[in-house]
Amino acid sequence: MRRFVSKMVLVVGLAVSSNVVHAEDRTAAGKAAGVAKVAEKCEHGVKKSLCTRCNPKLEAVFKAKGDWCSEHGVPESQCAKCNPKLAKEGVK
Ligand SMILES: [Zn+2]
Ligand SMILES: [Zn+2]
Repeated sequence: MRRFVSKMVLVVGLAVSSNVVHAEDRTAAGKAAGVAKVAEKCEHGVKKSLCTRCNPKLEAVFKAKGDWCSEHGVPESQCAKCNPKLAKEGVK
């Protein structure tokens, strides 16, 4: 019984300390997200993780989705030449 109780204390203690860590994580993650938002865009003005010019492997993914501008060699959704709206948002 005594062993059981000390185990419970240990579990509760862990739960409390992990809650504290989570709270700190959230703040750190929030700050990181704010920074990442700025850093996320590549030199082409699109999300780096979605940029086919930075990641040529992604071309096949966009082509498969039918999101492709063959005239300009970029996804239609990233083609500033076909979508002047994107150019205004900084897409090159
Ligand atoms: Zn890029
Ligand atoms: Zn285009």
